[in-house]
Amino acid sequence: MNTVILIRYSEIFLKGANRKYFENALYNNIKQSLSGEEYKLEKYSGRYIVRDFELDKINWFTEQISNVFGVHSLSAAYEVTSNIDDIAEAAILCAKGKGTFRITTNRADKTFPLKSFQVSAEIGGRVLNKYNEMRVDLHNAEQEIFLDMRENGKTLIFGKVIKAVNGMPIGVSGNGLLLLSGGIDSPVACFMMAKRGMSIRALHFASYPYTSEAAKQKVLSLAKILKKYCLNLTVDIVSFTEIQTQIHQKCPENLLIAIMRRFMMRIANILAEKNNCGAIITGESLGQVASQTLESITCTNDVTQLPIFRPLIGFDKEDIIEVARKIGTFQTSILPYEDCCTIFLPKNPVTKPKVEYVSRAEEALDTETLIYNALQNIETVII
Ligand code: ATP
Ligand code: MG
Repeated sequence: MNTVILIRYSEIFLKGANRKYFENALYNNIKQSLSGEEYKLEKYSGRYIVRDFELDKINWFTEQISNVFGVHSLSAAYEVTSNIDDIAEAAILCAKGKGTFRITTNRADKTFPLKSFQVSAEIGGRVLNKYNEMRVDLHNAEQEIFLDMRENGKTLIFGKVIKAVNGMPIGVSGNGLLLLSGGIDSPVACFMMAKRGMSIRALHFASYPYTSEAAKQKVLSLAKILKKYCLNLTVDIVSFTEIQTQIHQKCPENLLIAIMRRFMMRIANILAEKNNCGAIITGESLGQVASQTLESITCTNDVTQLPIFRPLIGFDKEDIIEVARKIGTFQTSILPYEDCCTIFLPKNPVTKPKVEYVSRAEEALDTETLIYNALQNIETVII
């Protein structure tokens, strides 16, 4: 009796020629999530099977695979030669031992002498013989034990379906450049766009010495958690000190944030194009702070040509926190380190900046040189 892992993926995106593309991306991503381990990954009629891995590591394997976007669900399964005795032995191992259950048989192998309902009845009977605290309930069973009788003369038996992250395989939706702060929101935005199949690269602005080494390490810790979902993640760290200092010295205080965000976007735009990213991603949510009103967003968008994806735009903070907890970034995000956005904070930032007004205020700055200088010393960290 072999133990294997059965991987199911969502069929929704499998249209025509996309199918192969989607399946190949998913196959490669599963492999990448398991890199460093010995195993075999096989395609099998709209599913994948992992076999020949070290049994002690099965929980690690299922955990890794359940975080691969595009995977709908998975099951640890026994694989036996299709005969009633072996199938029954495996079904008994899967059975919980008490409560109600049903057997569901899928007989792809039409040469097997019993029909599927007969197989279910026979195996169900054997499970009942073994466990006198179990009862059959076909309509509302606490446990469903599946028998998948394959055409190759093997049957897969499993009693548990683990839900996975779903979504689309990383890579099928192009590349996105994420503006990653140390906060709660941008890691969640990352997760959401990766879930739609985007391959992510991250950009972080640091303002030494106003922001500390600890603040940078916090961002890298977040990136490490996000890598679990993104598979590959590179973080570019750009020094924002000179730009912020200049804005602080030369521009009206109440426009500081609006101008600062436009600089972030200009730099993001350049780095996105350089790294072949077709979109910029932020963790903004409409109205959350002064820089996230409709007018502020208009002002920010004004300096970029690329589309800006803001997957959290309609989310309440509470909803964002819920996702942050689920994906494991929340505890790191709430560590109390300063972000460059929180230094030189004006008392009364404008909530409705006008593009003309802001761009006129920017005339006090040598925008090109400031951006040129910022781009000279990028620290690139491959997570
Ligand atoms: P977060 O919780 O993600 O920090 P926030 O609610 O604190 O978001 P802001 O500080 O206004 O909001 O930032 C809005 C968005 O701008 C962030 O979600 C992030 O995408 C980007 N951002 C903010 N600070 C930085 C930074 N230091 N480096 C890169 N991007 C940043
Ligand atoms: Mg922030």
